[in-house]
Amino acid sequence: MKITLAQQSNLENIDYDNLPFGVNFTDHMLVCHFENGAWQEPEIRPFGNLNATFALHALHYGQAAFEGMKAYRNQEGEVALFRPERNWERLNKSAERLLMPQVPHEVFIDGLKKLIEIDQAWVPQDEVKSLYIRPYLFSSSEFIAARPSERYTFAIICSPVGPYYAGAVKVKIEDVFTRAASGGIGFTKAAGNYGGAFYPTAKAIEEGYNQVIWTDHANHELIEESGTMNIMLRIGDKMITPPLTDRILAGITRDSIVTLLREWGHDVEERPIKVAEVVEAARNGELKEAFGMGTAAVVSVIQQIGFKGERFDIPTPEDGIASKIRKGLNDIRLGRVEDTHNWMVKV
Ligand code: PMP
Repeated sequence: MKITLAQQSNLENIDYDNLPFGVNFTDHMLVCHFENGAWQEPEIRPFGNLNATFALHALHYGQAAFEGMKAYRNQEGEVALFRPERNWERLNKSAERLLMPQVPHEVFIDGLKKLIEIDQAWVPQDEVKSLYIRPYLFSSSEFIAARPSERYTFAIICSPVGPYYAGAVKVKIEDVFTRAASGGIGFTKAAGNYGGAFYPTAKAIEEGYNQVIWTDHANHELIEESGTMNIMLRIGDKMITPPLTDRILAGITRDSIVTLLREWGHDVEERPIKVAEVVEAARNGELKEAFGMGTAAVVSVIQQIGFKGERFDIPTPEDGIASKIRKGLNDIRLGRVEDTHNWMVKV
């Protein structure tokens, strides 16, 4: 691995008490090119510009996918990544579906560990702040023929972040637009999945919501995801989340939460959830809690659900499952309890 260190750190210019999500970047990044059918030597170098012409393939055809993960500093001061192998596996699933090359373990995992080791001073020790990590892979040939690229570029950039949403959110059950269809790319973190979601989300924001709850493409009858998070509902004494299909991103936070809830003795069902069931439960008070699950916000409590103009307030108990699970995950990440699942990987 080639390493070129930055002449000067930018860390002292960052205000950790005022951290907008994903706009400040650490001193270094990792870059690795795939050319002539082979991965080249990875390079860690100062964060900087892309060197490409306007014919860059990814900009035209969207052969591009990304990951989102975090590094934490535990109470001993050690820096660790949360389940990084899962992100590596998932990026390669996205890569396969988008006809991009598989990123080798030594490029993704070894490169990531080295990068975080070099920029470890950027990882805060905090309940709500952490270092967000963005690994991504994109087509980097420079031609505009609509065929797969020949060159690809894998990169990792990092950004210190605070909480994603300030407080509980209001969400609208989307009954017109669709995020993903069966046979499509909803299970990948393809760049285009996010570009296509901005318009419906902006419409929901105009109506006074923060996000949409996506429903299925066929009839908009089934609950799928909440914005860029998986969704968990507490109906009666059950915790319910939709099963993973090719329309849903297999969230690493979702998997971790389902695992912990089951260990704690909760009845967790992974099954299709009808919109009608949620509306009915919200109406009759059986919907006790609802929250989104994802890397950026970890647990994002839902305080209101809108459907066809009606709005239902959802309880947000301070001692509810959402706060319990948020604390449970934080305890593992900050090293306050034994990491029995070996989820934390030290750099
Ligand atoms: N669904 C979508 C569409 C997402 O973009 C994300 C964020 N990666 C998630 C769910 C949650 O996944 P994870 O817990 O792995 O961050």
